[in-house]
This record gives sequence, C-alpha cells and structure tokens, in this order.
Amino acid sequence: MTNKRSAVITGASRGIGAKTAEALATEGFNVIINYNKSEEAAKNLRDKILASGANADIYNADIGDYVQAKGLMDFCLEKHGKIDVLVNNAGISQIKLFTEISVDEWDEMVRVNLNGVFNCTQNAVKSMISNKQGKIINISSIWGIAGSSCEVHYSTAKAGIIGFTKALAKELGPSNIQVNCIAPGIILTDMMSGFSQADMDAMKEEIPLQRFGIEEDIANAVLFFAAEKSDYITGQVLSPNGGILI
Ligand code: NAP
Repeated sequence: MTNKRSAVITGASRGIGAKTAEALATEGFNVIINYNKSEEAAKNLRDKILASGANADIYNADIGDYVQAKGLMDFCLEKHGKIDVLVNNAGISQIKLFTEISVDEWDEMVRVNLNGVFNCTQNAVKSMISNKQGKIINISSIWGIAGSSCEVHYSTAKAGIIGFTKALAKELGPSNIQVNCIAPGIILTDMMSGFSQADMDAMKEEIPLQRFGIEEDIANAVLFFAAEKSDYITGQVLSPNGGILI
C-alpha cells in the first residue's frame, strides 16, 4: 500500500478510457485498468505504463454486472486501501432506427451505459464516504444533452448519467465527494468506426473548431476533475466538443 492516489477507470482497454488511464498514471495515480473483452490491449497498456515507471493493474469485469463491478472496486480497495477517483467511462453504442431497436438491445444499452455507472459508483462510494473524500467522473455524451436520431437508446442512457451526476453530487457533497460529468463531442475512437466517410465529412462540417476530438481532449478534462484544483466544482457537465454543441 502506498500514499499515492488511486484511480479506477472502467472500459480502459481501448479509446478514451485507455488514454485516460495513461494520463492519470503519468500524473502519479495508481491506476486500475478495467476491461471486458480486450484482455490483450489491457495487458499491453499496463505494461506500457509500468515501463514508464508509473503504476497500473488490470482487472476483468463486465461493469453491467453488479457483482463483477463490486469485484473491481474491492480489487482497488485491497490493493491500495482506497479509491480516490472513479472514472465511469465504459460504454457501448449502436446506430439503429428507434422502431428497429429490440427489447434486448434496449436492455443491453441501459445495462452497460447506465446500470454500469450505478454498479461501480455504489460499490466505490462507501469507502469514499468513510474517507471524506473522492471524485466520481462520469462519461456521458453530447447526445445525452441534445439527443441523437437513430441513437435513442444510447441518448437515453447518456442523459440518465447526467441526472445521476447532478443528484448524487447533492447527496455526496456533505461527504466532500465531487461528482461531475464529461459529455464528449465526436471523438476519434473505435466507437466511430461504423460511420461512412461521407457521414464523417458531414459531421466535421458542423464543428466550429474544424476537427474531431481526440482521446487526449477527454483525458485532459478527466485530469481537471480528478485534480485538487477542481475541488469546488461538483454536479457539473463539461462538454469538450469543438463547439458542435454550445
Ligand atoms: P471504445 O473505443 O469503443 O471503447 C469502449 C471501452 O468500453 C472499451 O475499453 C471496452 O472494453 C469497454 N466496455 C464496453 N462494454 C463494457 C463492459 N460491459 N464492461 C466493461 N468495459 C466495457 O469507446 P470510446 O469512444 O473510447 O468511448 C468511451 C466512452 O466515451 C463511452 O462511454 C462512450 O459512450 C463515450 N463517448 C464516446 C464518444 C466518441 O465519439 N468516441 C463520444 C461521446 C461519448 P473491452 O474492449 O475490453 O470490451
């Protein structure tokens, strides 16, 4: 056990979560890289962080499953004695007409994207409350604010994360726990790989800063909410989106 701060990042094998884990490790955090299916990628990231002299562990859990999410938080508590920062990043997306979304697809979207946030947070906050400190950073989406056609289930789950953030910030404020939300715009990760070049070009046209976001743009926002400098900020939604939604 060390005095270093510890952070659990869900869905950190790839994309935004992976970059966030790397950034937090570079800042001196002991990081727990959660993954679901991408074991090899998670191991490679851990090895890269360890080789840089920082500290990281990997932990396999489907965060949509309450017992597995508890196992993830317990792993961090056993390893580091506390959870200073929880980044609820893991997510899935799907493009589908509302009329064609099956009940199973709806349930899975909500299970991973929204229940996962509940599962991880509830199992992290008990120790944060005892320690009278903690930071919970939830990754939503601009579509949780504005709504996206053909992503009603995704938009619904992401909007739920914003309500969750605001309500929990009020409840946990007296325990000195900050709960904030990041609502990314369009970020170049595997999640965007299903879009055609024509769709991507059309979306880019709509971005005042004239570029898509990169993983670092979101990792930097996480670093801000994880740092002491943001201690007076809670219940807020920060949207790094290049101006596509103002
Ligand atoms: P990504 O590249 O597709 O990566 C998704 C990550 O989530 C992977 O590490 C994946 O792990 C993990 N994951 C998925 N289901 C999981 C589960 N049941 N349990 C644990 N981990 C799970 O996506 P991304 O673009 O980095 O997105 C990260 C977050 O940002 C998501 O919440 C997403 O909705 C949000 N976001 C993304 C964008 C964007 O434009 N990319 C925009 C707004 C918001 P495995 O590979 O190990 O299964």
